[in-house]
Amino acid sequence: MSRYLSSRFASLEEYVPGEQPQDLHYIKLNTNESPYPPAPGVVKAVTQNEIDRLRLYSDPDCRALREALAAQYGVSSANIICGNGSDEMLSFLFIAFCDAQTGVSYPDISYGFYSVFADINRIAAQEVPLRGDLSICADDYCGLDRTIVIANPNAPTGLCLSAADIERIVQSNPNNVVVIDEAYVDFGGESVAPLTKKYDNLLVVQTFSKSRSLAGGRLGYAIGSEGLIADLNKIRNSTNPYNVDSLTKAVGLASLEEQDYYDNNCKKIVATREYAAQELQKLGFEMPESKTNFLFARHPKLAGKQLYLDLKARGILVRHFDMPRILDYNRITIGTPEQMETLLKTLREMI
Ligand SMILES: *Cc1c(COP(=O)(O)O)cnc(C)c1O
Repeated sequence: MSRYLSSRFASLEEYVPGEQPQDLHYIKLNTNESPYPPAPGVVKAVTQNEIDRLRLYSDPDCRALREALAAQYGVSSANIICGNGSDEMLSFLFIAFCDAQTGVSYPDISYGFYSVFADINRIAAQEVPLRGDLSICADDYCGLDRTIVIANPNAPTGLCLSAADIERIVQSNPNNVVVIDEAYVDFGGESVAPLTKKYDNLLVVQTFSKSRSLAGGRLGYAIGSEGLIADLNKIRNSTNPYNVDSLTKAVGLASLEEQDYYDNNCKKIVATREYAAQELQKLGFEMPESKTNFLFARHPKLAGKQLYLDLKARGILVRHFDMPRILDYNRITIGTPEQMETLLKTLREMI
């Protein structure tokens, strides 16, 4: 820190992303990326014409992509905003919908960025503890009268709330925005995107990073009532109107045309997850039921941090969180069947 940094940020705790080693030497099961490449047709989107067009600013309204997404969800393009990853959507909505009067609530164990966005915007956050089994209890969020942010399915637990539970939360907080972060919904969750047509206080955030194999492209979006989307656009236009670059737009649009390929990848990942969960249980691991592309596992005889280090020494990266309630756990991204076999073989040797 230099002496020039504003004192406002002296105590800010930054978000720490999972390790991204650049040597590709690890089996990388630590940041929930897809083990499969983007659809074969996507490469055709990166044409000479698109490269030539890089001299121009990208479309600030992101029209083509928003229209394609709107068609997919059966909403109007005025109900969609695109961003530089869903992280940017989250950043915008903390700015737009929280302040000194309107605080924010999210689960005490969830996506680590929520507390950073609350912190940097100086928003009073009230963390709602997960239940003993690491589940979110919908009743805890009813009538809170604060902005609510819930990842569903939740990370890093992998557990999922039903659409009916979410609807109850939305109904009971009519004067507040309820944000549902559906980064992992394609792996077995139930999307509440259709409910955005019924409730003007519901905002659904989604990403191309996980099920659509585009983490490096940085593309996310939010779906909500025209009013909420206009509010987010106000923040976007006041910070970074060209927030999605034109190559990413082209690639994102092309991937929407290959839905079958991504649906099939999700099926493969779910099948690999169920197999890996079963094999890990045979080794004595315990884990909540995952509806995501990761497992959150602990072993009664192995300390979480040490297991992470031992796996890393053997060339396998998983994610360990140094947080009191979940110290025993590691989050293991579902890789290819071959990668999971290597993980299981390594664990069998270790145990
Ligand atoms: C991965 C993840 C995101 C971030 O996604 P990007 O679109 O890559 O910024 C958001 N929320 C949750 C819960 C995630 O796990």
